[in-house]
Amino acid sequence: MRILIVEDEVRLASTLRDLLELNGYSADTCHDGEAGLDNTLSGIYDVVILDVMLPKMDGFSVLRSLRAAGNTTPVLLLTARSEVSDKVEGLDCGADYYLTKPFAPGELLACIRALTRRQPEMQPVNTLSYGDVTLDKNSFSLNCGDRSVRLSRKEFDIMELLMRNREVVLTKETLLLKIWGYESDAEDNNVEVYISFLRKKLSHLHAHIRIKTIRMVGYCLEQTEP
Ligand code: CA
Repeated sequence: MRILIVEDEVRLASTLRDLLELNGYSADTCHDGEAGLDNTLSGIYDVVILDVMLPKMDGFSVLRSLRAAGNTTPVLLLTARSEVSDKVEGLDCGADYYLTKPFAPGELLACIRALTRRQPEMQPVNTLSYGDVTLDKNSFSLNCGDRSVRLSRKEFDIMELLMRNREVVLTKETLLLKIWGYESDAEDNNVEVYISFLRKKLSHLHAHIRIKTIRMVGYCLEQTEP
């Protein structure tokens, strides 16, 4: 799950990113409202943590523009203000949650969990299955029958994305943005390399699923004949 942090206090933003990454999320930061709006509209984020007082465009305006554009990404508003009228304005603008600074790390993590619980497809699960293959988050492994292989973090993230979007074509661009993030200079062939690692592992497992290449588009997971 990928989270965007829009916060102009650079140190706070990186502290939040570290906290989220320690807790198993991928996170990116940006430091003004316009960048926050652009990045959120890209559609690659599952949750946005949005500060209210921001340069270029305040959080309320970002939120209004997002919702006006039909973007429904869950937004957690983060602010130093604690006035009731601000909370009401935030919620009226389309915020899903409101957190007043300063807050405890546990409080933020609980908010993120609450936001993701509302969207069943985003719920962190310990295992995902497709065909005869199971992906296990506790052991970072891919299992089929009595065979098992360990995955690297990137392999795991890609496999998770493919399994959550089974039989749907994922473009290389989507994989790049979702797995490597915006600020990365990873290229298409990074995706190809990891897909080939995963194919070798699926073949080692004698799995009856495969990662199919859709020429010029991307990849999708499909079941093969037993
Ligand atoms: Ca601020």
